[in-house]
Amino acid sequence: NLGENLTNTMKKLAGMAVIDKKTIKEVVKDIQRALIQSDVNIQLVLKLSKTIEDRALNEKPPKGITPREHVITIVYEEMVNLLGEKSHELNIDDKPFKIMFLGLQGSGKTTTIGKLARFLQKKGYSPAIVSTDTWRPAAYEQLRQLTEELNISLYGDPNNKDALDLAEKGLKKFKNQKIIIFDTAGRHKDEADLLEEMENLSSIIDPNEAILVIDGTIGQQAHDQANAFAKTTDIGSIIVTKLDGSAKGGGALSAVAEVGAPIKFIGTGERLDDFEVFDPERFISRLLGMGDIKTLIEKAEEVIDEDVAAETMNAMLSGKFTIKDMKNQFDMMGKMGPVQQVMNMVPGIGAKIPKEARKMTEGKIDKYKIIMSSMSIYEMENPKVIKKSRITRIARGAGVRNEEVKELLKYFNSTKKAMKGIGKRGGGGGINRLVS
Ligand code: GDP
Ligand code: MG
Repeated sequence: NLGENLTNTMKKLAGMAVIDKKTIKEVVKDIQRALIQSDVNIQLVLKLSKTIEDRALNEKPPKGITPREHVITIVYEEMVNLLGEKSHELNIDDKPFKIMFLGLQGSGKTTTIGKLARFLQKKGYSPAIVSTDTWRPAAYEQLRQLTEELNISLYGDPNNKDALDLAEKGLKKFKNQKIIIFDTAGRHKDEADLLEEMENLSSIIDPNEAILVIDGTIGQQAHDQANAFAKTTDIGSIIVTKLDGSAKGGGALSAVAEVGAPIKFIGTGERLDDFEVFDPERFISRLLGMGDIKTLIEKAEEVIDEDVAAETMNAMLSGKFTIKDMKNQFDMMGKMGPVQQVMNMVPGIGAKIPKEARKMTEGKIDKYKIIMSSMSIYEMENPKVIKKSRITRIARGAGVRNEEVKELLKYFNSTKKAMKGIGKRGGGGGINRLVS
């Protein structure tokens, strides 16, 4: 597993006071191996590792920076360089601003169009959508439901099998709109036909922004896919989908290198709101398994008592995790964002979040908080004593059903179990050790 490997590499580095040539070479090898395992294209890995090695060997660490910090910084910088250092936005500078989506069937085009439309709506735009996918049986219906939910205009005709004709008619119909988004097919008789259709569509639509959608879980294929689509039109940006699971999107790096277009957004789930502006630094931190520790600490310092944070993290990682710690965790979360986001900032933890935790919603967190506030400190510190009669009392105090208290206990137990696993794998020193 990539994350674990790189985390180990980075930990190895972090434990070293002096770094010599041999060590640098070893570390670079480790990084190579990890990147290749994470589906980053081999040529790209070789190029990256050469640069990293050269810099690490030749550059003197700046004053106040230890050699190990220097190597880590170089690795990090080179990866960020590849992806661009800041997030990009769509520059809507034309009317109509025509956006064309491209990508293989199943990559997430149609879903992402819905997400982007929602995103644009929040910025005050009202994009119109044109459906040109004549291959997927329910393509039109999928968009019809999406656009109905979003309350935006759609042009399509499930009986028309001519994608180019659909594009032309859609263009005409929406010529006075500010933004038009074109959905396309991801499948055809064969690949050559699909690519030809994209090329023809692109010349009809003449997109201001052609967006390539890459499934974040596909690995090495991303390189070839990107390459093929880039021949049909001038790709302006990439959206990587399905980064909500354990996939870290290593393949997307290769797509970026291949196409030379920035990743602008990522998809992090099936719902319309599971959509984020791409943050290169964050992506790299996750990819390297380094964790977004710095951000986590900064954020934590801003809003909560540092000691409580450290104490809770320590408890989490050492396995001595009680409901009281969970309550602290929830209180922090309220200020720092959803559980998954917070957890992703800690190295090695992201992928290990129990299923229940992924599904935690704000509403549930609030409810759990109310339930916990009905527990005594003794109960929170000794969750094992919470049995039948206590459950009934707590439920009554919180104004919830017994089942809901049991559900919280179940959630607590699975979280505790997951934390224990992480602690055993070497994070036992807690947050202080991880950052020092
Ligand atoms: P298309 O064929 O490229 O138009 O792909 P669709 O938009 O129909 O999506 C294919 C499948 O991927 C659907 O089941 C989507 O719900 C799912 N999907 C799309 N984006 C994401 C994402 O970011 N995360 C997850 N987990 N699923 C996604
Ligand atoms: Mg589709």
